[in-house]
Amino acid sequence: MAEKKDYYEVLGVSRDADQKEIKKAYRQLAKKYHPDMNKDDPKASDKFKEVSEAYNVLSDPDKRARYDQYGHSGLGDQDFNFDDFARGGFGGLDDIFDMFFGGGMGGMGRQQGPRRGSDLQYRLEISFKEAAEGTKKEITIPRTEACERCDGSGAEPGSSVKTCPKCNGSGRVRVTQRTPFGQFTQTSTCDRCSGRGEIVTDPCTECNGTGRVRRHRNLTVNIPAGVDNGTKLRMANEGGAGEQGAASGDLYIIIKVKPHKIFKRKGDDIYCEVPISVVQATLGDEIEVPTLDGKVKFDIPSGTQPGTSFRLKNKGITHLNGYGRGDEYIKTKVVIPRKLSKEQKKKMLEFAEAGGEEINPEEKSFLRKVRDAFGVG
Ligand SMILES: [Zn+2]
Ligand SMILES: [Zn+2]
Repeated sequence: MAEKKDYYEVLGVSRDADQKEIKKAYRQLAKKYHPDMNKDDPKASDKFKEVSEAYNVLSDPDKRARYDQYGHSGLGDQDFNFDDFARGGFGGLDDIFDMFFGGGMGGMGRQQGPRRGSDLQYRLEISFKEAAEGTKKEITIPRTEACERCDGSGAEPGSSVKTCPKCNGSGRVRVTQRTPFGQFTQTSTCDRCSGRGEIVTDPCTECNGTGRVRRHRNLTVNIPAGVDNGTKLRMANEGGAGEQGAASGDLYIIIKVKPHKIFKRKGDDIYCEVPISVVQATLGDEIEVPTLDGKVKFDIPSGTQPGTSFRLKNKGITHLNGYGRGDEYIKTKVVIPRKLSKEQKKKMLEFAEAGGEEINPEEKSFLRKVRDAFGVG
């Protein structure tokens, strides 16, 4: 599938363009590419779909906020369906502008009454340590908020609200559509008032009557100890503003934890490898091991085999419910020396001989040759 073009580029507007600019840009482009005006140019119809899709998203504050944050993927499976958008086929230019700008699209299929705001998602990456200990993070999210000027009502302060003349306050209207198959009449949500039954006579100048404005809001997120990859934290009422004073949506913070250099995590237990020498493994030793709380002393018993795991109780990650911690497991990695000094080689051989061990005769004869040639040992 071809990469989708940036919606702002498609409409030729800047990223902070307001609704008026977006509408104006769309109106011009839709006129330019409308299939009725470009009968000899088959590409015009694609172009028309493209600008319609861009407008569909950028004219909707919630969709736009999601698009701003996550790009095309943020719109998910609410993918633009042009056929739905242009339901009923194209009439003349006037019809299409009625359809788009009379508010028709906004009201179709919608439940009556103001809608609750949309839920938003924010992906937040934190360090392993922050996930283990909990932290606070400042984030900035683009979202819709209730317009301060009109208090979310959409009406210019001091102006009045009146009963919708199109539906006489019922919120429903009968629509007749002419199609190649005949004429269809159906009842649908009133496009003039979006089903609310009343209209604003004097739209608020700040929000153009929508009651909502786009803002970049700074928020502090409290991240409890114990979160992991994919943990969803809900911030109630921090999502998009509802219509006309309806409840806001929620904001979901989705955690992504960066991998740690030494520790791996499984549930609330953590795992790490600790290198020890052959001598330490053989004779035992007190070593220092890393934990989330810093280094601690740990006794390696004599005769420790490679790959042995030891448990450090309650040194894992705090359970998300705040009660108790997981454990830490350290796994010994016995490091076999790659290079030995002559002295060390000699002692190793003596060690073997003392144990009555007959080791690699080739190496022995090699060492003997060395001894003969240089007169050492
Ligand atoms: Zn307003
Ligand atoms: Zn109405």
